[in-house]
Amino acid sequence: MMPKKIMFGENAAKEFPYPKNALVITTTTPDIYNKWLDYIGIKNYELYDKVTPDPAIETVEAIKKQYEGENISCYIGLGGGSSMDVCKYLGKMTGIPKILIPTTFGTGAEMTTYAVISFDHKKKLLQDEAFLADAAIVDPYFLPGTPFNILRNSACDAAAQASEGYDSKLGNPFTKFFCKEAFDILYDAIMNDKHHLLPYGAMLSGIGFGNSSTTLGHALSYAFSNEGVPHGYALSSCTTVAHKFNKSIYYKCFKEIAQKFKFEPLKLKQPLDQAADVIMPDRGHLDNNPIPVTKQDVIKCLDEIVNTNPLAA
Ligand SMILES: [Zn+2]
Repeated sequence: MMPKKIMFGENAAKEFPYPKNALVITTTTPDIYNKWLDYIGIKNYELYDKVTPDPAIETVEAIKKQYEGENISCYIGLGGGSSMDVCKYLGKMTGIPKILIPTTFGTGAEMTTYAVISFDHKKKLLQDEAFLADAAIVDPYFLPGTPFNILRNSACDAAAQASEGYDSKLGNPFTKFFCKEAFDILYDAIMNDKHHLLPYGAMLSGIGFGNSSTTLGHALSYAFSNEGVPHGYALSSCTTVAHKFNKSIYYKCFKEIAQKFKFEPLKLKQPLDQAADVIMPDRGHLDNNPIPVTKQDVIKCLDEIVNTNPLAA
């Protein structure tokens, strides 16, 4: 599965024919999104700019209510993951088409059937065919100005998703084709400082892993996410160690990417045994791992992550 329409490359967001009376949903401040809106050249639109990070279901319901009876032609999610997730969920509720335009690149969320919404202050990863965008627009225009720390976390996530997605048991020649192409582009973009290629690489990664799922690296990373470590940073060591465990063809190249970005070693506050108990029920990731994973394996991987430096030369 992928969006009905995909436009990518320089000026893609400028050239897209936006319908009248769209509702633009964004997260940032007027000084930033007014520049974006000028660039994409959209006319006759409504704007909702009160989406916060880790959006809650209450926000989605509030937007639905606020614009009821206004004949909104489509939702446009313009921004990071939060604005796109809100659009995905809204689109599912109302049946109104959605156009997704990522401005931070890495998750490939504009391509996937996944959305993260909080219920009772708990983040939930949801999957539904109805979350799929009607159109996804990937334009590197939005990349410059991204702080380096966000850029490296996102690029690391994209590379982890592409390589874990390649190895996934759910993979097939079609998903492997996208994951491999994505990883090759991301590797070149990162190792040779061609950052303008990151959005396209992340987009291909989204099509690939979005149809095959990620695996052990992502499962391990949530123990660190729960302690506040950013997703992409957690993956730098977790995916490296997972690739080693799986004897993945991507072990060496992925480690080179993590080294290039100079990620620091990870620490864990909770005991490894306890962390493993949190990780083991994550069947969505673990069942798709190419090799079966026991609790002992998880503890061994965590031990390697926090007690050795898996990114050392
Ligand atoms: Zn990820």
